[in-house]
Amino acid sequence: MKKFPRSFMLPLLLALCLALTACTDAAQPAASGTSAAQASPSASASASAQEATPAPVAEDVATLAQGASESMILVNADNPVGEGFQPPALKTLKSLITQPVKLDDDSIQADPCVADAMNAMLAAAKADGEATMRIQNGYRSYSRQKEIFDSTVNYHKTQEKKTEQEAMTITKSKVAVPGYSEHHTGLCFDFGSVEADGIPFGQTAHAAWLKNNVYKYGFIIRYPEDKQSITGTIPEPWHVRYVGLPHSEIMQKQGLCLEEYWQALQSGPITETVDSGTYQVYYAPEGGSLTLPQGERTIASDGRGGVVVAVKVS
Ligand SMILES: [Zn+2]
Repeated sequence: MKKFPRSFMLPLLLALCLALTACTDAAQPAASGTSAAQASPSASASASAQEATPAPVAEDVATLAQGASESMILVNADNPVGEGFQPPALKTLKSLITQPVKLDDDSIQADPCVADAMNAMLAAAKADGEATMRIQNGYRSYSRQKEIFDSTVNYHKTQEKKTEQEAMTITKSKVAVPGYSEHHTGLCFDFGSVEADGIPFGQTAHAAWLKNNVYKYGFIIRYPEDKQSITGTIPEPWHVRYVGLPHSEIMQKQGLCLEEYWQALQSGPITETVDSGTYQVYYAPEGGSLTLPQGERTIASDGRGGVVVAVKVS
């Protein structure tokens, strides 16, 4: 066998190495080429990205409202619920509340959608050192409201010798006309004083705690002192209404009562940053549709076929 001279071996080995290296380098474009030729991995990756952020489409209100609570219903002198209004399956507060509370009556009923918020609020009050809260009223039927209204009119006629018209006027200033009471919804509650009799509720520690804290749990003081001209109702520091989060937080931050919040929503989406995040809140009436941004949704019915959707955008 012919032997290569040693002087020839070295360049040969070098050439061989170079050739191998070249082959290795050459393999890269080939591999890329293969990948590019297959095309599908990168194409499907971009398809997945598109699936994650599809272009928003209009969604009809009826579909959005399915299963939503009626926690955004507005009830006032211009927006009665009427005699035929039936809130969803009511339950007793006694069965819904797991936290310490004094109930004036074990039969007080509520819309079950308030349960989690009520328990969180009562737990927070307890953690803050508040004495056990007392709840005097919740859901009130049309017929019960009528009884209260009629007996109040009668009281002013018989005990205070007022005329029928005077008695009606006085009664309307402090008792909702049947069909116009928010208590008909099962979403509001009258808190009571556990302090010495004779102290107006508004001056109690409970009232101060409620005023400063209920919004954190989805509730509002429905009839604040400075909004009487808008709500049409005398200040009621004891009357706490559930609207759900983030609405209560947004109303608190923007200083709006429920009427003002509704008015703002009619004009277009509200964008606000509160402790729990940044939200865009949309409203559409019955028969309408909404095109919503991406984000976690909280959907509430307005009790009249419309819907309020809060989207957490960041
Ligand atoms: Zn009330």
